[in-house]
Amino acid sequence: MGCIEQKTTPASKDSGHDFNAFEEMQPRRPEKTPVDRRNGKQVKANDIPPEGVYLPNNNILAPHMKSPDYVQLSNAAAITLGIMGGRMHRCECTRCLNLLLTYPEGCRANCAYCGLARHREAERDYADRNFIRVDWPAVPMTDVVDIVAKDPENSPFHRMCISMITHPRSEQDTFAVLEQWTDRIDPEAIPVSILSNPTTMTRADVQRTRDLGADIFTVALDAATPELFDRTRGKGVQSPHKWKKYWDIMLEARDIFGPQKFGAHIIVGMGETEYEVLNLVQELVDLGGHSHMFCFFPENGSLMDHLPATPRDQWRRVQLARYLIDYRGVRVDHMRFDEAGRVRSYGISDAELSEVIDAGIAFRTSGCPGKFQDDISACDRPYGDSPPSNIASYPFQPNKKDLKKIRKQLDIPVAVE
Ligand code: SF4
Repeated sequence: MGCIEQKTTPASKDSGHDFNAFEEMQPRRPEKTPVDRRNGKQVKANDIPPEGVYLPNNNILAPHMKSPDYVQLSNAAAITLGIMGGRMHRCECTRCLNLLLTYPEGCRANCAYCGLARHREAERDYADRNFIRVDWPAVPMTDVVDIVAKDPENSPFHRMCISMITHPRSEQDTFAVLEQWTDRIDPEAIPVSILSNPTTMTRADVQRTRDLGADIFTVALDAATPELFDRTRGKGVQSPHKWKKYWDIMLEARDIFGPQKFGAHIIVGMGETEYEVLNLVQELVDLGGHSHMFCFFPENGSLMDHLPATPRDQWRRVQLARYLIDYRGVRVDHMRFDEAGRVRSYGISDAELSEVIDAGIAFRTSGCPGKFQDDISACDRPYGDSPPSNIASYPFQPNKKDLKKIRKQLDIPVAVE
């Protein structure tokens, strides 16, 4: 079996390196928040009642909005739902309605890569914070349900997802939002995923989401190793999360939701090696779950906004290898890695590898499936991990020109037609 072997690793245009090494990916230290800005104090003190849709940064002060009455939506979801104008580069719509719980005091965690992190209360109200590169308008949950419930079968959305944040009301409000949805919309028509916050959850909470009609339960592990987790989401940044608790809740979800119905989000390029992240992908597959990958992007205002985005060659190697492990039965121990943990061969023949690359699906956004096929994610998150000028996760099917660029990034010669 002849494997395509990468002989050289070109330097990335993004960072000057061909991978983001652990030593270089150190987050900034969070600074102290002035007392009058803590816990959404400013928003609560002014107590302006919300009226309809709130577009971030449009007002002097964010109104006093709270879940479960209000949720935030990704820009893409708001455009698709028709409550916001705008166009998305090469995308008609998004297939996933991503909802985010919202509170004036925001998320109480401080994850280093995240635009919603607690340290940002010093400079920005929660409802005005950018998250995965975009703004998140806040909308009454009843408006969202009213629009989708008109014709769920023909909705552009193939899935709805509730993203929990770290907040004392997160569980009860997730249940309430889920109930509001399933009361009016058949989860068979539009299945629901839960992007959980394990830190405050119990097994009973996981069970409750299942009982209320959720289809898939995922855990935002985000960091690929315990050391990175601690540095970016735990003690390293005065944040409450623990690696073990995330795994405990994911294993509860495996038990309750069953095979193929649970998984973990992983951000690639925060300092792990390619070997480490692909081992994690393999572990998830061996447990019966899936990995949903994000390419690290230095989110504006986050504690890692001074660091380089993941070089495209590192990202493409991991994307391709992850796809082979998740959907083509290749195992990480079939692959070969160099001394820095970089993928050197993918464990399948040149012809098979070429076929997978040219199919393009490996380079699309990964996430919970929609209605097209199992390996095409409903959650396409347009430009959530890169600008349109240098796409990391393709929110659409890459065309020939895109594939040519991808092959160049992979340093795998263009196939003979
Ligand atoms: S728990 Fe989630 S929303 Fe909160 S700071 Fe961490 S990554 Fe961001």
